[in-house]
Amino acid sequence: MNANGQNQTPAELLAHLVAFDTTSHRSNLGIIDFIEDFLFQHGVAARRVVSTDGEKSSLYATLGPADEGGVALSGHTDVVPVDGQIWTSDPFTLRAADGRYYGRGTADMKGFIAAVLAATPDFKRRKLKTPIHYAFSYDEEIGCVGVRPMIAELGKNLPKPRMVIVGEPTSMQVIDAHKGPVRWNVEVKGRAAHSSMAPLGVNAITYAARLVAELERIEADLKKTVRNARFDPPYPTLQVTKLAGGTASNIIPINCTFGFEVRALPELDPGNIERRLRHFADTQCLPEMRAIAPEADITITRTNSVPPFGADRASDVVALALKLTRQNETHTVSFATEAGLFQDAGAPAVICGPGDIAQAHTADEWIAESEIVKCMRFLSRLGDWAEA
Ligand SMILES: [Zn+2]
Repeated sequence: MNANGQNQTPAELLAHLVAFDTTSHRSNLGIIDFIEDFLFQHGVAARRVVSTDGEKSSLYATLGPADEGGVALSGHTDVVPVDGQIWTSDPFTLRAADGRYYGRGTADMKGFIAAVLAATPDFKRRKLKTPIHYAFSYDEEIGCVGVRPMIAELGKNLPKPRMVIVGEPTSMQVIDAHKGPVRWNVEVKGRAAHSSMAPLGVNAITYAARLVAELERIEADLKKTVRNARFDPPYPTLQVTKLAGGTASNIIPINCTFGFEVRALPELDPGNIERRLRHFADTQCLPEMRAIAPEADITITRTNSVPPFGADRASDVVALALKLTRQNETHTVSFATEAGLFQDAGAPAVICGPGDIAQAHTADEWIAESEIVKCMRFLSRLGDWAEA
């Protein structure tokens, strides 16, 4: 209830949610306490799935019949950092202006969670025949980390949904496929020497640069061979995302490390990229390096993957989402979500949520008020469906 004794509006709830700085490296227990308390006030019991260090938690709640089946609404409570971004106003204080709500996480994706919470009194008032579950997770922004232990509990300690709607910002369009990021870390170890005596050393940065150039060639080949016109861009992108190396301006660098990722299409085997880079390292770099320094080495380690997603054609979830949005066409996106993880666990998923991904992760992130209104209508129709 708000100060006037009325149910809280989505905007009031969004203001509360934005006020918690849930940047992924911080604890999210404050926002989880708030949501749990809100649900409790509306007669909804929620269950936590706590991280091993106890610093973070997911929250799972079931409205309607307390059994398996039904639809889960999935969202993450964490946000990306604001470091280095220039904001017009405090990112953790919701600001309304010109039909928009500004604040970190408004689009990605506290707007969706606020709408779901605001719909709770409506869901509770109805006589739901089919359960509606809430699945709120943490550490999505660092690779869908927190949702995985919660998914592992489905069908064990938590009732498993028959379908999942992931509320990432899609401007309330129905998304039935997305790319998946697969990431690697590469360590190049050379040999240090005085930079005036270059032939005695093995320059780790030079060899890292060769590997980076090979990745550029691999991407050029992917552009030609792995294409799917439903995606934008219509091929898997392959990018070096971080690089560090060297010690001082007069030392041949002994170390260079870099990270790269591919945004894989559902039809791409990312293992092929790693094998090609490994082969290049083994044939085009290491023989030369080891001729001077036998200890020289190149290690390639896969660090994190989120599976690419293609909706299960046989499931009803795409049809349901189209019906609830009053649309007749599905779309794809290039960002990743937990949809594939739910689907792999036997809970077919689709992505549909308020806000535009173009505003996610930016300075002065915002969501249009009209998007929240559309989402509330969607949730109200979901209530109709679950009641029927
Ligand atoms: Zn997100």
